[in-house]
Amino acid sequence: MQHLLSDQTSGILYVVATPIGNLDDMVPRAVETLQTVNVIAAEDTRHSARLMAHFQISTPMVAYHDHSDERQTQGLVERLQRGESVALISDAGTPLVSDPGYRLVRAVREAGVRIVPIPGACAMIAALSAVGLPSDRFAFEGFLPAKKGTRQNSLQALKDETRTLIFYEAPHRIADTLQDMAEVFGPERELAIARELTKTFETICKGSAKELAEWVASDSNQQRGEIVLIARGAKTKAVDALDAESIRVMGILLEELSVKQASALAAKVTGQKKKALYQWALDNQDK
Ligand code: SAM
Repeated sequence: MQHLLSDQTSGILYVVATPIGNLDDMVPRAVETLQTVNVIAAEDTRHSARLMAHFQISTPMVAYHDHSDERQTQGLVERLQRGESVALISDAGTPLVSDPGYRLVRAVREAGVRIVPIPGACAMIAALSAVGLPSDRFAFEGFLPAKKGTRQNSLQALKDETRTLIFYEAPHRIADTLQDMAEVFGPERELAIARELTKTFETICKGSAKELAEWVASDSNQQRGEIVLIARGAKTKAVDALDAESIRVMGILLEELSVKQASALAAKVTGQKKKALYQWALDNQDK
């Protein structure tokens, strides 16, 4: 295990989440941290100037990207080792989530310097919390490839993933991506779009891949702003294997019993595996 105990004389790297639109989502601890650190490492210092002005933060900023040269990362590590405190921010939301910061955090951890996260807004979590798709198991896929062929290959590789899938998507690609999802995942796969979260034109919409693809293609307003796209996972193989009689029995039992009780009883009645029945119930509970 690496550097569980940090060097007490070093400073602290704070990884600070900032709002994804609505500045009122800035948490007080984030403001206080940005006001008191020695320096803020920002993805884009000009972009973050508005946030700084709004919260009267006058701490000096330096630009930091993951493609910043090694010297810049080392420069920040050395400042931390000298006892200075540094805050890492990105343009919006949580650093490192489809945003710069990974290389810095890794280098700082390897140097044995303490890292403190200041949690806050994150578009994928905000979207997941509101779209009404299964949230017990999910996979964040970030941005899909921009080119159609490569994007379709990526979707093909995800086709049988049973966890809920979360993507970030650019507005000028959303119509094509939805069309690709309808083709690759099938027209009936349940999808959701969360657009412009926390902002004036916030729109959250759920439907089949076919419905959403047609709606977005026909309404150019849906092809604007910032977008999180969420796809329900594929049905499990166990579901495919369930015969009509088991589904009928489960349907009746679930009206009166918990998922656990219904699958245990149905397993005795039908001879099906309890686990398969249990999974079927989880996948079909809200249908
Ligand atoms: N680090 C950020 C986070 O924590 O969510 C994500 C940064 S990534 C470069 C930007 C992408 O996040 C956008 O293209 C969009 O897909 C998503 N996003 C950011 N803000 C959003 C918002 N207010 N509503 C919907 N999606 C948003």
